Amino acid sequence: MENLIENKLLKADNAFQKWKNVPFEEKQKLIAKAAEIFKTKAEIFGEIITGEMNKPISQSIAEVEKCALMMNYYAEAENILSPEKIDSEYSISEVKYIPKGVILGVMPWNFPFWQVLRFATPAILAGNTVVLKHASICFGSGNAIEEVFAEAGFPEGVFQNLEIGHREVQEVLEHKAIQGVSLTGSEKAGAEVAAIAGKNIKKSLLELGGSDAFIVLDDADLDEAAKVGALARLQNCGQTCVAAKRFIILRDIEFDFLPKFIEEYKKYVPANPKLKETKLGGMARPDLADDLEKQYQKALDHGAEAIIPLERISENEFNPGLIRVEEGNPILQEELFGPLGMIMIAENDDEALEMANNIPFGLSNSVWTNNKERQQFFIDELESGTVNINRMTSSDPRFPFGGTKTSGYGTELSLHALKEFVNIKTIIGK
Ligand code: NDP
Repeated sequence: MENLIENKLLKADNAFQKWKNVPFEEKQKLIAKAAEIFKTKAEIFGEIITGEMNKPISQSIAEVEKCALMMNYYAEAENILSPEKIDSEYSISEVKYIPKGVILGVMPWNFPFWQVLRFATPAILAGNTVVLKHASICFGSGNAIEEVFAEAGFPEGVFQNLEIGHREVQEVLEHKAIQGVSLTGSEKAGAEVAAIAGKNIKKSLLELGGSDAFIVLDDADLDEAAKVGALARLQNCGQTCVAAKRFIILRDIEFDFLPKFIEEYKKYVPANPKLKETKLGGMARPDLADDLEKQYQKALDHGAEAIIPLERISENEFNPGLIRVEEGNPILQEELFGPLGMIMIAENDDEALEMANNIPFGLSNSVWTNNKERQQFFIDELESGTVNINRMTSSDPRFPFGGTKTSGYGTELSLHALKEFVNIKTIIGK
């Protein structure tokens, strides 16, 4: 391992020895300061994001502002990590939450600030220190985040960016200083990293892909569903794990809903991501655009029908596409990470549910109906970490966030995330 990297790991471990003993409220004050810096410099950081991965600037700025909101949530959060007394016959009878140590974050390019801070903030507040392996196109974001932690007054070594490629992750994860890993990204990367963590008996948390359903029933507000549905698919150029990827529509409303949806969908036209009015930028990397084109072709080869053809207009840009897909098409087993939506027609609620669940993923589904019983049916039966009723998925710091099936395991956000990287120590005695 390069000396520079080894030194950073040792520095993170040294920092941990002191940081773990800093009172929760003191840590919260520093988090509040960092939140303030992110809020004040949202435009500057937004430009870094847009420069690195082509996100429209207004969405990049909104991402940084959301980070500030999330950090403020933790800055004011209840301390659920205080020792807990256990009711027993013993005079000494309690549990303590002990931070694990240095935690590695392996993070993707699609939300270069949000993904990192969503993981790092609760981990650090719980008393851990963090080293980041960011996506190779996002080292600028990683360095900017490290600078904010320094500017806010965090002790050196609490948050460090490692500027390493994915081939170096194994060596870092196996290092004795590292006690756990949180990865957001593809299943392939997640499986490989979790295997290394498992072999070394280190905790892992995985936030992976999804192919979320957006189910529209016949009593829904179709205008609203059409408008929100287009945004849910095409925001961030479709490169969001919780984007709506499969639109499951009841046959009764097919001809009412689809024209409205297509009209909304066509409002997303690729433009310069540096302009504030731009709603759709290009994809983050040309190879990701190549992958999406291949998946489009695969879907068509297996019988999908192009409702709006996916058109590549430059190295990174597409005019968004929409395809109609039948059950059995192998494309349904894959994540489409770009501006290509899938329409499926269901005969009734039972079939809509079956279609929604018939995928390897289970991240977050959205159901549109005003009928309470039908809402409850989908709430109970959908196999996903989150169910949204009459809203698109967007994470909220107050609510837990995580997947089922191959979408991963572990919980981010909310108070629950504070307990992901701690050991529970039991103390019993007379
Ligand atoms: P990856 O999953 O490959 O990248 C995410 C992060 O993991 C990056 O930091 C990457 O590093 C790292 N990484 C990749 N492979 C390994 C490995 N074997 N060991 C350790 N770290 C690794 O995503 P891609 O950029 O290749 O995108 C491919 C697909 O992944 C997308 O099309 C999408 O389907 C999915 N994806 C899902 C995301 C989500 O939010 N759930 C986010 C991003 C991608 P490096 O950059 O150095 O390769």
